[in-house]
Amino acid sequence: EKLNLQQFCQQIIHSLHLSFEDENQIIAKFKGEFQEEFWDSKLLWHILHNLLSNALKYSPKGGNILFDIIVDEKLVTFRIEDQGIGISQTAQKHLFEPFYRADNVENISGTGLGLSIVRKCVEVYQGDIFVDSQLNKGTTFTVILPRQQPLMSKIEKSIEQI
Ligand code: ATP
Ligand code: MG
Repeated sequence: EKLNLQQFCQQIIHSLHLSFEDENQIIAKFKGEFQEEFWDSKLLWHILHNLLSNALKYSPKGGNILFDIIVDEKLVTFRIEDQGIGISQTAQKHLFEPFYRADNVENISGTGLGLSIVRKCVEVYQGDIFVDSQLNKGTTFTVILPRQQPLMSKIEKSIEQI
């Protein structure tokens, strides 16, 4: 459906701040011109909600999360940067596998499915996802999606396969 990316991101941030009881703040920065355009809100929600809730969940209390949303003519780039527990080099290789959880998250609950869903959704959009992380320093996820979306029918077909 048609939606404004800026409003959509602000709604997700608002709902996360409510559910995480404002322990950590997500600080959003928007760059570029945001207008109503066609996006699949379910896919976008899975991508952003999982990455942002990971950033909140794997950060100590009081750690802020920087969320940059940059649009240009062809692409949108989402950058989610936390100052949390970080991900080891070894764990980075397995992050997107279903049920994988790194060994520094023992006392933080989760199923290990979030990122595998994120990766599927990014693939459906024919986008890219990158991770950059250092143990005990923090993690940055970058997602790049094309703004000129492939035909909606194609997207819907791919969703059925997830
Ligand atoms: P859930 O299915 O509830 O999301 P989860 O958060 O454990 O559970 P994923 O979101 O798939 O699962 O993440 C997989 C693993 O990647 C996590 O268990 C954690 O080890 C690591 N991870 C993901 N995001 C971060 C982050 N921002 N900081 C540190 N580790 C992370
Ligand atoms: Mg998760």
